[in-house]
Parts: sequence; C-alpha cells; structure tokens
Amino acid sequence: MTTEETVAGLIESPAFRKAVATLAAEHDRTVEDIITLTEIPAPPFGEEKRAAAYLEMLRAHGLEDVEQDEIGNVMGLRRGAGNGSLMVVAAHLDTVFPAGTDVKVRREGTKLFAPGVGDDTRSLAVLLAYMRAMDAAGIRTRSDILFVGDVGEEGLGDLRGMRHLFTQGKYKGKIDAFFSIDGTTMDRMTVTGVGSKRYRVAFKGPGGHSYGAFGRVSPSFAMAKAIALLGEVEVPKQPKTTYSVSVLGGGTSVNAIPNDVWMEVDLRSEAPAELEKLHARFLEILEEATQAENAARDVDAGLISYTLTTIGDRPAGNTSLESELVTLSRAAIKAHGYEARPAASSTDANIGMSLGIPAIQIGSGGSGGREHSLEEWIDVEPTASIRGMSAGLAAVLAVAGVVD
Ligand SMILES: [Zn+2]
Repeated sequence: MTTEETVAGLIESPAFRKAVATLAAEHDRTVEDIITLTEIPAPPFGEEKRAAAYLEMLRAHGLEDVEQDEIGNVMGLRRGAGNGSLMVVAAHLDTVFPAGTDVKVRREGTKLFAPGVGDDTRSLAVLLAYMRAMDAAGIRTRSDILFVGDVGEEGLGDLRGMRHLFTQGKYKGKIDAFFSIDGTTMDRMTVTGVGSKRYRVAFKGPGGHSYGAFGRVSPSFAMAKAIALLGEVEVPKQPKTTYSVSVLGGGTSVNAIPNDVWMEVDLRSEAPAELEKLHARFLEILEEATQAENAARDVDAGLISYTLTTIGDRPAGNTSLESELVTLSRAAIKAHGYEARPAASSTDANIGMSLGIPAIQIGSGGSGGREHSLEEWIDVEPTASIRGMSAGLAAVLAVAGVVD
C-alpha cells in the first residue's frame, strides 16, 4: 500500500469517523479545558500547579502508569496492541510569562485571548480530546502511546523536560517516534530542529580611575573586540546559522575603568556541524580578544580574564522527509486540506531529532496569533478547530497504526 492508501484507509474507516464525530460532539468541553488550563499559571520553572491539574486530567482519562517524573513532566500510557513500539505525543506545560501575569481568559465570539492560550495550552486540551475520541471509537493502536505534558520547553527551560524523558527517565531508550503538538497551525511541520548554544560571558580586570589610571587594560575593550570579531564571522545561509550579542551590561561609574562587563550571546544553526564550527570560532574569539587587550595596554595592576557560563544548550537535529513519521503525517494532514510545509524551529522535537529518533512538531488546529505576547489569542471556531484536530489525530493514528 502507498502512504496515501494507508492514510485513506484510516480516514475512511468507521472508527476514525466516530472519533471525529466525538471531537465535534465534545468541542465545547475541549474549549472549557483550554480555558481551565490557561487560567492555571505556568511560568518558566513554575509549572507545578498546572502539572498537578493535568496529571489528574490524564488520570481521569483512564491512562495507565499516570505519573510525574523527577523533572516535573506528567504523563500516562495508552497501551496499544503490544507490537513493542512506543510513541510519545507531547504538549508543553510551560509558558514564557512570569509569575504574576494575568492569565484570565477573555472571550470574544469564538476567540479566546490570554497569555499562553495557544502556545501551548490549547494542545494540552487537544491531547485529552484525542484520548476521548479514541476511546469512544474503540480505537486500538499498534504502538503504545505515551501522552506527556512536559516542562521547560520555553527559553531558559532549555528543553529540560524532554531531555529528561529521552535521556534519563524510565522511558529512556524506548521511544520510537515523537510528536510535539505545539501551536495551532496545521500548515507547517517542524522537521529541522534549530540548535542553539547560549552563553553569558563576563570579562574582568583590575579597574581603576578613568583619568588617573588611563592606559590600564579594560574589560570593555576586550569585550568590544570580541563582539567586533564575532560580527565578522561568515556563516552559511544554508543551513541557516546565526549569532547575536543580545544583552550587555556592567561597569561601575562613568569615571571608572570597569572591573567587569558582561554579555549574553545566542549562537544557532540548523546543522550540528555548523553550530559546532561557530561555537569553536566563538571560543577562539574570546581568547584572541582577551589577549589583544592584555597586549595593548598596561597590565601592571592585573590582567583581563573572562568566564564563560552556559545558559542554554539545545541540540540541533533533523528528521528525514522520507521517514514514515513525516510521510504518513503529511499525507494525513494533507487529506484534511492542509499543506504541512517542512520547517525549521526550536521545539521539544529537537531532543528526539538530536538522538536520531524520528521527531516532528505539528499544530493542534484552529488558528491563533501574537504568541509570547500578552495579546496572544486563538480562534476556536468549531469547523476549523475540529478539522485541524482531526488532521492531527489522523497523523498520530497513521503513525501508531490502528488494529482493524
Ligand atoms: Zn510552544
């Protein structure tokens, strides 16, 4: 059977139709779940309350081995027919918004406005809808499916939830395929995980009076030189590779040679080898800039030195367009009228990709905008919302395989 035939067989089956009918019949409940979960704050490193609520929801949906792992992820298993393979379907619990942000949902027609409502709270509710739809339709998959609400997807969370699940938790080494359900649109699919390395670099020196000690080494000149040298690094457009000196600070007073200055740097690439190359050059630059300053001015009172602190490390990776995960998912989504264009992004799927495990990110359906802003919104207009959810469910089931 071709991929299209496999997908058509699934989508036209009475069981799948029943599942879609359930998604439709229970859409109001799904919207309620979105609102309930959105209104439980989940700031970075503060996901506990939402995790506890989601854990109870997973339990109420009859999953097995419902638990919270050491890092804070909550999960439960929907057992398949026992072919031994394990698929993970995950949505992230955390938002980018700090504690104290007003997360009350404002409803205008079919639109819901609230920080985090689409990234990624809608997906958490959609996973629950998938479980109910499969149960109502009596669908038994071949693979076991582990449903996960994970911590630490955003920013300095640094994918710690997924990293733990794949490399330390009890499912380590057992995961065969991975779906991150993140955001709303079904028209793109992340198949390339943009890797990043993020550092805080502090340059230190003896400091002194700006006038009286003139001629003494300055960490400012060392850092400025490092920034200028980084700015000269040529990186490929394909695979896209980038750098940014993003946040700077330091100094004591306008009439002082500083004791220390610092910067935060973001290095990224779609390709692990390019990220490694850029990273290696960056380390050379820090050395060169420091040595140049120590050679250029007076070091009698002390040398310039620097310290490097890692504040983020997301591995790059890629899932082949020829992999079953991608071909089946794209066909399933396309059968619902969406394109699922391959895209590059930094998501929970990075971890699986970096380990050579097929992993992708797809949306949860509906539409939305202004992610990561206080004006974030989603549209839960039922026709589009249910069509998108159906497309995602079809992708999950096509990959998991359904027992006739
Ligand atoms: Zn997200």
